[in-house]
Amino acid sequence: MTNLPKFLLYAAKAAGAIFITGSIVMLIGTFKKSPVLDSAYRVEIVSKDVWGSARATNESRKHELSYITLHHSGEDFDKDRDTADYLRTLQTWSREERGWMDIPYHFMIDPGGTIYEARDPVFAGDTNTTYDPAGHLLTCVIGNYENAKPSPEQLEALINLMAWQCEEYDIDPSTLKGHRDYAGTACPGENLYAYLENDYLVTEIIKRVGLVERIERK
Ligand SMILES: [Zn+2]
Repeated sequence: MTNLPKFLLYAAKAAGAIFITGSIVMLIGTFKKSPVLDSAYRVEIVSKDVWGSARATNESRKHELSYITLHHSGEDFDKDRDTADYLRTLQTWSREERGWMDIPYHFMIDPGGTIYEARDPVFAGDTNTTYDPAGHLLTCVIGNYENAKPSPEQLEALINLMAWQCEEYDIDPSTLKGHRDYAGTACPGENLYAYLENDYLVTEIIKRVGLVERIERK
């Protein structure tokens, strides 16, 4: 080795240095790469301020959340209808016609899969049917799913939203049921309920709990 020409010695040292540097870079890269961030899902929620919610003037019952529950609005929804306008109208109806504190549900999903904040989850929802909504975190998919079929965007938004809800409010995903499991109603509609019956929604939600990052849409 002592007879090794100097340039070969330098070349060997340089190669070693490059190898070591490369290994360190790779090692740092491995540590920096978080598997959670790599596989994270996102849930973007339009805040009440953005869709023009009016401030609540009274309060409903406070409750402890134990279940995630699925509804549809039950009315055919024109694809050209402005969701923010629909939500403001629903809010006014809920307050003026029904005397409720707010929209009866906590989260709303429109036909394009956009998610909106509705009633503050601190307060129990309201219903025109016979079950007690206290303890339920209510998500309503806007439209009539006896007629319409949920879009892939709506299903994806619903799964991410409910996985986030389970993490955020410490609710067991296996509590997922539809309104019709509690009361005499078609809600959330045959075509949406099919995804509860075949366990598609709960299976996907369980896979994503803890992996969903909430983003506020301004
Ligand atoms: Zn319902």
